[in-house]
Amino acid sequence: MVSTPDYRHSPLRVGPYASGPGNRAVLPLVPRPFAGEACSSWLERLGARSDLTTTQLLSSFGCSGVSAHDLDWERDRRTVSVLAGVIGFPAARITRLRCGPPASRLWERAERAWCRICLREGLMRDGEAWTQRCWRMGWAAVCRRHGRLLEAVCPRCRRTDLGCLFVPRAGRLRAICRQRDEAVNLWGEGVRAELPWGLRLDAVERTHLVALERDWARGMRGYRPLRRWRGVSAVRSLAAVVEDLVLLVLITTRTWIQPAPPLRWMVARSNWLDNFVYTPAMLPVRMAAGTLLLAARLLADPLHGAEPPVLWSPSGHAAKREALNAASFMAWLEPGQRSWGGSLTAAPPGPYQN
Ligand SMILES: [Zn+2]
Ligand SMILES: [Zn+2]
Repeated sequence: MVSTPDYRHSPLRVGPYASGPGNRAVLPLVPRPFAGEACSSWLERLGARSDLTTTQLLSSFGCSGVSAHDLDWERDRRTVSVLAGVIGFPAARITRLRCGPPASRLWERAERAWCRICLREGLMRDGEAWTQRCWRMGWAAVCRRHGRLLEAVCPRCRRTDLGCLFVPRAGRLRAICRQRDEAVNLWGEGVRAELPWGLRLDAVERTHLVALERDWARGMRGYRPLRRWRGVSAVRSLAAVVEDLVLLVLITTRTWIQPAPPLRWMVARSNWLDNFVYTPAMLPVRMAAGTLLLAARLLADPLHGAEPPVLWSPSGHAAKREALNAASFMAWLEPGQRSWGGSLTAAPPGPYQN
């Protein structure tokens, strides 16, 4: 005789769903989203309760062809409605876990990144690893709370592409290295990553980055920036200007990045190549931080009084540090790009603060 497994007393299996109000099936084990958690992270934790990947989890709800990362950005009302029904949460609560609007999808960070201290705090306080929304966004390369460059390399195996540190094990996401199948020790300081081009991440630099992040986030929500930024106008967003600067940096550093936008973003556009732009989200975190700092310093209109200079080493000699400004930036660019670079750094600032 074949017996059916009894899921009722298992803490790990979803099994046949419990019966909810109106005979609606609801999952018996549903973790609450943490403040600032990305939707995909919450779904990862939900799946971990049943030893399911997010793809398996969504498929089991009849939502095949949807990735958890889609739900971080897209307005997928059907999937959200199904999730709300099965999980017993209001749809609006799930929608609030999105990282940004679909139009900003190219600002979705390509690689998984984290702040070691935030991750450690999450493990101690919440009992599992989880991903903050800002780690998924290309405008944040530095933790706001701890001022550290985000990490993307597993401290054990040194890989970036295996999903280490967020591994489902015994019903929770654990800080485990997939390659070595060992717990990862996050208590050390880790390797302090240096920014490129001799840039450093001191208080002055962090102030600039925070100002850029803040205004980018405001623009994403449809608000005007608080600062004036060169090249920004009523019809041209801060994001669009930074995207130009990213391309300029890629050309200057002879860095080739294969365009690989999210599948759903691509299929929604018949001519996706015409709409494609490079964003800091596609760069390795260290290079993204350097590029954002160039943008934050070069595009800011110096209306806010005399600010200490950001120093860098465009020549590549660490001992020769100089102020990062339009002149040193132009000298760093290849001669063929200087006209374009000059038009970015000399563009009139705008818009005015509300
Ligand atoms: Zn942090
Ligand atoms: Zn690893």
